[in-house]
Amino acid sequence: MLNIGCHLSSSKGFLAMGKQALKLKANTFQFFTRNPRGGKAKTWEPSDTAALLALMQEHGFATLVAHAPYTLNPCSADPSVREFAKSVMAGDLANMELLPNQYYNFHPGSHVGQGVETGIDWIVSLLNETLRPDQTTLFLLETMSGKGSEIGRSFEELRAILDRVQLREKMGVCLDTCHVYSAGYDIVNDLDGVLEQFDHVIGLDFLKAIHLNDSMTPFASNKDRHEKIGQGSIGFDAMVRFVSHPKLRDLPMILETPNELPGYAQEIERLRDAQI
Ligand code: FE
Ligand code: FE
Ligand code: ZN
Repeated sequence: MLNIGCHLSSSKGFLAMGKQALKLKANTFQFFTRNPRGGKAKTWEPSDTAALLALMQEHGFATLVAHAPYTLNPCSADPSVREFAKSVMAGDLANMELLPNQYYNFHPGSHVGQGVETGIDWIVSLLNETLRPDQTTLFLLETMSGKGSEIGRSFEELRAILDRVQLREKMGVCLDTCHVYSAGYDIVNDLDGVLEQFDHVIGLDFLKAIHLNDSMTPFASNKDRHEKIGQGSIGFDAMVRFVSHPKLRDLPMILETPNELPGYAQEIERLRDAQI
């Protein structure tokens, strides 16, 4: 069975998201750990997270994906921006332990002219100061499209980060189909080749979750514009091959397509029906 869900609003709390997911016939979902623009954490109520965990167990949910605010820049040139990213991630980690054994996905950041190597130095030191041996949460680096000075546009850049993280067993990768296609990995015509490359450079063991998005822009455009499934440059058939691939089919897959809830329900149903 496909483990699929979508990004949900966390404004009504955790149990509400779990119930919403069930209505959409989802068995996983993604949520922001706090306001996506950064700032104050919303309240993580232990009784609410416990109620969600019970619901997840009852209904056989796959692992959830929490998403860090996308405005964090762990590798900014500005020390106060890096410090802010560090305090948000440390706070998020403490909260995430109320939902043990789930995933925490984040964007590696943008080096803003300092160069890739300096950017990678910053993100590595932030991770080495943040990760803890006793945490159950896995931190996922997201594959990026390579717009601007984004780090994570290639498997090699993610490998360079992972190589230097001391608690590497607390790390994984979340592959975003829109982003990798936009970054020049041809998952439409050569999915096997892309997965071979991922395995060779990073190791498929590190691949823990998928962001399932079509792309508004052409192959290798280095843009980041998500499209509804089947309406973009990736197309429905390639998406079905993707979710059916033996090396991918068991991973949690999260839709981040431009949809309201009924649109998400439809995409979930179509992909479940079409999976080979
Ligand atoms: Fe993201
Ligand atoms: Fe994504
Ligand atoms: Zn994106």
